[in-house]
This record gives sequence, C-alpha cells and structure tokens, in this order.
Amino acid sequence: MKTIVDELRNILEPSKIAVDQPTLAAYAVDQAPVLDYQLPLAVVLVESIADVQAVMRSCAAHGVPVVARGAGTGVSGGAHASRGCIVLGLERMNRILDLNADDETAVVEPGVINADLNDAAAAHGLMYAPDPASFRMSTIGGNVATNAGGLRCAKYGVTRDSVLALDVVLADGSLIHTGHQTFKGVAGYDLTGLFVGSEGTLGIVVGVTVRLKYLPREVHTIAAFYPDFRLAASGVLAVGRARVQPAIMELLDGGSLAQLDEIHGSDLSSRGASLLLIQTDGFGAAAEAEAVREVLAAGGATVTTEASAEAEQLVELRRNSRGVEVDDEYRVGEDVAVPRSRLVDYVGTLQELAAAHQVKLKVVAHAGDGNLHPTFWVDRPDSTVDEGTMKRLNTALDDSIAVALEMGGTITGEHGIGQYKLRWLGLEQPEPVRELQRRIKALFDPAGILNPGKAI
Ligand SMILES: Cc1cc2nc3c(=O)[nH]c(=O)nc-3n(C[C@H](O)[C@H](O)[C@H](O)COP(=O)(O)OP(=O)(O)OC[C@H]3O[C@@H](n4cnc5c(N)ncnc54)[C@H](O)[C@@H]3O)c2cc1C
Repeated sequence: MKTIVDELRNILEPSKIAVDQPTLAAYAVDQAPVLDYQLPLAVVLVESIADVQAVMRSCAAHGVPVVARGAGTGVSGGAHASRGCIVLGLERMNRILDLNADDETAVVEPGVINADLNDAAAAHGLMYAPDPASFRMSTIGGNVATNAGGLRCAKYGVTRDSVLALDVVLADGSLIHTGHQTFKGVAGYDLTGLFVGSEGTLGIVVGVTVRLKYLPREVHTIAAFYPDFRLAASGVLAVGRARVQPAIMELLDGGSLAQLDEIHGSDLSSRGASLLLIQTDGFGAAAEAEAVREVLAAGGATVTTEASAEAEQLVELRRNSRGVEVDDEYRVGEDVAVPRSRLVDYVGTLQELAAAHQVKLKVVAHAGDGNLHPTFWVDRPDSTVDEGTMKRLNTALDDSIAVALEMGGTITGEHGIGQYKLRWLGLEQPEPVRELQRRIKALFDPAGILNPGKAI
C-alpha cells in the first residue's frame, strides 16, 4: 500500500500530498455519524484537472479506492474515508472560470464555495439559486455530487435543475464533457443528470457549467408563529391553495426555536410553538406577501410584518438551525421527504414517535418541498452504553423512515445515501432497481475504486 503514496509523490508536488496524522484525521470523516472509522492512506489536495487525472490513473493501476471530497459538510457519510483509500480533496480547485451575464451561465471549478459563486453572480444582478443552509461552507462540486437542495429550492429547484454541463474525470483517468451550454438540449441520454447526485461513485466532477437566475429586485419575508406544529404545517398547504409560489418556505418546531434561542439569545420560543418562515420575491413580492399574510392569519398564525433587517436575521437563524452539534450515534439528523399533502400527518407522527420511544426530537423542514430534517437524540450515557436507550433511538429512526415511505415519501430528500442511509435503501428501492444501478456503476467504474460502500 505504501507504493501508491510513493508513486503519487513522484508525480505531484509535495505540497499537494499529506500523510501526517492530524491531516488524515481531519479528512477521514464528514459531518455524519461514523459507522466504520478509517484513516485514508493519504490526502491529496489537487489543483488542476491534470492532477485529478494523474491521481486516478495511479489509483486505478494500484486498485486503490478514491474518496472525492469538497468541504466535508456532507451529513450522510458520503465523504467518510473508505478502507485503504486516498482522499481526493478538491478545495484548491476554486476558480470561477467564466461568468456570462447575457447567457445567464457560469463555469466553475468544483471547489468553488457556493457563497463565492453567489457573490460573483450578484455583481451582475444574478444568483446561483440552489442554496443549501451550508452555502457558506460547501462546494459546488459537493453540491453537484449530492444534488443538494436548499431554502430557495421551493421556487427555483434543486441543484440538478441548475446544472447544464459537467467535466468529469472517470475511474481510468480519462476526461469527458457532458451536457451543453444552452438551457435546452436533449441529445442522447442525460449523463449530466446521472452524475448529479452520484456521490462520487461514478466519476470526479472537475468542472461545472451552471445556469444562473436573476436576483429578485424585491424580497418580502413573513414570520408566522403558531401555537402548535401541525397547524404550522397546514399553513404550507394554505399558501399553495392561495396560488402563491414563495421562494422560501421553512418550518421550525418548538425544539428548534428553543435551541436557536439558547445559542443566539433570541426570543423566538416566547412568540409561538412553531415558526413558518416565508419569503416571496420578484416584482409581485409585496402582493404575494399580503396574500400569504391573509391566509396564514386565517389559519391561526400570529403573522408579523418583519422589518427587513429582522427578517433577514430570521432566515439566517434558520440557516444556522443545525446548531453546532455534529451527528453521532446518539444524535441522528434525518432527511426524509413526503408528498406535501401528507406533511401535517407526518409532523404529527414524528411527535408521537418521539413520545412513544422517549427520545428527544427537533424538526426543521424545507416545507415547500415536503423535505423534513427531524433530529432524534438521546442523552449520551455517562459511562457504559445503555442498550435499551440505543434501541429506543434506533426504533424511532426506523419507524420514522417506515412511515415516510408508507406515505409515498423518500428516505433522503437532499443529503444523499452516503454510508449512513444505506441501511434503509432497500426499503425504498426494489432489488431490480438496485441491481440496475450496480450495473451502471460497474460500467463507469469496473474495479469499484470510486467511493466504495457508498450511495447504492
Ligand atoms: C450546517 C449544515 C447545513 C446543511 N444544509 C443543507 C441543505 O440545506 N441542503 C442540502 O442539500 N444539504 C445540506 N447540508 C449537507 C451538505 O452541506 C451538502 O450535502 C453539500 O452539498 C456537501 O458539499 P461539500 O462540498 O461539503 O461535499 P462533501 O461533504 O465533501 O462531499 C459530499 C459527497 O460528494 C462527493 N463529492 C464531493 N466533491 C466531489 C466532486 N468534485 N466530484 C465527485 N464527488 C464529489 C463526496 O465523495 C461525498 O460523497 C448541510 C450541512 C451542514 C453541515
């Protein structure tokens, strides 16, 4: 195994390869619970497409696994090191190569931070719409590989809807270009769509052509506080029935509000037991906001007309609602999505499950998409692991997944399967569908060196 590191040292500058323990440990895991902790053989911080190709050629020749890594903010374990792997860090490939305002497109390297692309686009009155709450940390390459969603996706769609073309280095080190510079284009199979969300298992994304959207001239934010969570969820449907398409529709339960108050010193929980945060945008934003206020107030909400500074702060607080905790075996954040018509029933079920299994629960949701992030947790035992407690936690997790599937939902709306959610994948996808995916994987990566043990 030493030979691969020696070989990489021969072909890349020393500053690009790290084998010291602190660096290996820092790049060994993302922000998901760790099931099978492994240190990589080396961390290689590539700076060009040629570097990526060289690494892939060497790893293919030695049969060494490669785990691509953007910023490591993933929460499914997609970027956890696999046994005996090289971690291929793309953070230094962080240049915006082109931004064409008339075409409403940009071409970026994979390590560009989402917020940096948005800052560059804003100078032209444009935005890159998919905005995961991690947009200040996560990379466009990571967003592409996970098909990341975000707050604005309620109106503007997820990452897949904004990716026009990709440059991808395949497992054998060859470079391909998929897709087109134009918004439309249907030539051949949609390989771009296939790579989006493939979690580093089919190829290394080394270039991304994205579609930009116009920055709305006007934005209105509405905070609706509710006496209970189910009522707040019903507000989401009421807005739809009023035929308003908000840019953002985020739902926070009482547990999330209390945690935000604790961290930021806000007084959200004194204002209600649940918060529905809605943003309308564009030239009709004011009229839409007025329509939203009316239906929410009629549905039992205390609706505030926020001054813009406070409104922005509320959206910021929502973006920070994961708090400072990183998931582990005692605290697991989920990512289920259910058809919106089942949202009210599902949030009720979550509360019942938490009570029945005596575990703690907080929920934030990209409610416009029916995408919920329930976090279930138990207090960390002082010394020995209390098996009964762990069983209750895992039963609550399993049951919440089962109910989401029964309602026609999915086990992951935007975070990906990674390593952590593999245990539930068979519940959602029947064997023939999984086998087809294994065959696609084998076509792209016959030796199985790209992010083994993840995603499918
Ligand atoms: C506070 C917080 C809030 C979050 N909010 C959201 C949210 O609102 N919406 C959402 O969707 N997610 C969210 N996430 C999860 C995470 O930020 C996203 O999954 C993000 O897209 C990961 O980007 P990354 O650069 O950190 O990728 P990483 O975590 O480094 O990698 C993620 C996956 O992509 C693969 N990968 C990375 N780069 C490449 C590449 N260039 N080529 C091929 N494969 C690659 C990795 O192997 C791994 O499988 C949140 C996470 C945190 C910590």
